[in-house]
Amino acid sequence: MSEPSIFTRILNGEIPSEIIAQTDTVFAIRDIAPKAPVHLLVIPKTARYRDVTELAAGDPELLSEMVAVAKDLAAEYSNGDFRLIFNAGPDAGQTVFHVHAHVLAGGLSESSMGA
Ligand code: AMP
Repeated sequence: MSEPSIFTRILNGEIPSEIIAQTDTVFAIRDIAPKAPVHLLVIPKTARYRDVTELAAGDPELLSEMVAVAKDLAAEYSNGDFRLIFNAGPDAGQTVFHVHAHVLAGGLSESSMGA
């Protein structure tokens, strides 16, 4: 068995972080190193999918749920407009191999693509 991911440890209360939203299958936290005025992470409660390609193939409904939660959070924390980023693979900047979506919002129209 591999070690639990940092996000599983947050979900289990082993690492302090405020869970700002959750459904039966997904939860959300603030990114600890924000790259935008609003930078949230939407994360499936299951750690079985390493990245968005695995998730899309294995459970498209769960991917849809992540997008729906991202939309609601962007409306709650900003004006409803948002950028949704999935890093897939180390060369793309992925550091946590428990799929998660970066939700960026708040005056991004002039900024670059990276999260
Ligand atoms: P990625 O690089 O796409 O795998 O994204 C991982 C994200 O998790 C990074 O943006 C980190 O800043 C964020 N992160 C790492 N540890 C924590 C933590 N304890 N609480 C909140 N966000 C975290």
